[in-house]
Amino acid sequence: MLIYPWKNGVVVDTGLAKIAVDTPKPVPGATHVVTHAHYDHTGAARKTTVLTTPGTHEILKVLGGLSSEPVREGSIHFFGDTELSFAPAGHIPGSAQLILDNGKRVVITGDWKLESDILEPGAEIIDDVDVLVLETTFGAPQYQFPDRKEIYGEMKRWVLANLGINNHVVLFGYAVGKSQELTALLNSWGIVPVVPDRTHRVNRLFGLSDVLIGSEGWREYVSEPRVFVLPPNFSDILSALEVELGRKIVARSCSGWARNGFQLSSHADFWQTINLVRKTEPELVLTYGGNAGQVATVLRRMGYDARPLTHTVMI
Ligand SMILES: [Zn+2]
Repeated sequence: MLIYPWKNGVVVDTGLAKIAVDTPKPVPGATHVVTHAHYDHTGAARKTTVLTTPGTHEILKVLGGLSSEPVREGSIHFFGDTELSFAPAGHIPGSAQLILDNGKRVVITGDWKLESDILEPGAEIIDDVDVLVLETTFGAPQYQFPDRKEIYGEMKRWVLANLGINNHVVLFGYAVGKSQELTALLNSWGIVPVVPDRTHRVNRLFGLSDVLIGSEGWREYVSEPRVFVLPPNFSDILSALEVELGRKIVARSCSGWARNGFQLSSHADFWQTINLVRKTEPELVLTYGGNAGQVATVLRRMGYDARPLTHTVMI
């Protein structure tokens, strides 16, 4: 079996089957798998049909222009000599780790986190893993996120305090994944946020309560302070919006990257990364995504056979 990086995706070639995971374009001769509905993982689905979980399939349908086929819960697909199945990844709704088994058992985590959030539990720990292909965006020691419940509490205090002094509140998060977590959180505090169309369409899949930015535009929200859940690209219009609505707007990003916002990450931090490897005990760890080299170095110091997936590995 060969495993190699293909742009920001991963390809596994068993000799009898080639499986391309989260590649930005179709890979000639491959069966394509998408681990979750984030834009930077779904490129191949614009040109070919990808296999995915039922949850991701539903989101891709709502987003439009993407072709997918759901692999039903618990079912296994066979490719040549290889079984393919999914396990929860805890990253965003529908996200999955991919398990490939042809005697050697390979797990490709996709984007993942161990920590549960308000919408779903964290990544499943998979048994008997020979090779763990580990996404490491925030896996390095400099990334240690606060406990999610603490962040939720801090967010609630900040949102309510600002509404209390008649400010509009904006929480920035990606339309797919983070915006559903934010909407669910606000709903749990009795707040119905205002959202744009793309967020609204995905929110509806999860039965979340929101208000779509109306056909009359923002002017509908002049009379009282509201909470808006918006994708980050809306940050450019905040100043203009403040003038238009005649009310102060306070805004925070909600992301692992947020320096002055809420560090609400959909990825695993350093300790979650270490814990997943400790609980899985794989024979080999291949790291990929930001900080892959640094995480592999840390794991080698801990005694694991670990290396960044920078070129073809034969197992
Ligand atoms: Zn993602």
